[in-house]
Amino acid sequence: MNAHLKPLVISLAMALSFNVMPASAGNGPGNNAGMTCISVPAGAQISESEAASLSFMREEEKLARDVYQNLYAQWQDVVFNNIATSEQTHMDQIKCLLDGYGLPDSALDEVGRFNNSDLQTLYDSLIERGQTSLIEALRVGGLIEEVDIKDLQQAISETEVVEIQMVYNNLLKGSENHLRAFTGRLEQLGETYTPQLLSAEAVSDALATAIFDLDSQTVVINELRIRQNGRLLPQTNMYQVELRMNRDGQTLQLMKVQRHNAPQ
Ligand code: ZN
Ligand code: ZN
Repeated sequence: MNAHLKPLVISLAMALSFNVMPASAGNGPGNNAGMTCISVPAGAQISESEAASLSFMREEEKLARDVYQNLYAQWQDVVFNNIATSEQTHMDQIKCLLDGYGLPDSALDEVGRFNNSDLQTLYDSLIERGQTSLIEALRVGGLIEEVDIKDLQQAISETEVVEIQMVYNNLLKGSENHLRAFTGRLEQLGETYTPQLLSAEAVSDALATAIFDLDSQTVVINELRIRQNGRLLPQTNMYQVELRMNRDGQTLQLMKVQRHNAPQ
């Protein structure tokens, strides 16, 4: 039985070390070093509302990053650190689009400061709430991801620009992963997660364990766990696997194996 399992574990580990690098790319705000920007056709024009949406989402991703950095400093729970890193890449992806369309950066350098006054108010209240306990801090994380999912879904429905849709869809998948990580960590601590903004159905959709996306012909399996000797290994060995349908329409090709931003 062991002998059957080993090749799987080894190939997961190899894919893991291969995939870890892009996630850690990018440090300070607006630093796109080490990541490839999505290319925008030269001279492409977008509408005022699309530009406003990009500016807003850039700051909303910054809100997520800044809150998680702050809560990591407070609680030293690695889930916040992992996700803060991911939020930096989300900020970077939107910065790429702002640059591509010749738009100014809407985000301030300073952590915890925002141009948008609604986001400033939200940030201040979330930080206050997150200081009360680790459980509250994890719920704050869940709320941020719910806000993000709602706003991204709305923004995706309001644009026809392929490059913007691609980036927003990427960020949406990231937010679903983050929500899964926060709810998973709460469960580990014996808590259940109650939706705070979205409907219960929308949250359970976001937490779906496997999705066949007909738009991209990919199957994404979240929370792939490993069983050995009849037992599931601990959740630290949790992976996300992406498979793409081959042109024959019958077979699947392994595209990506990524370790979750899972609780440790
Ligand atoms: Zn994000
Ligand atoms: Zn997030």
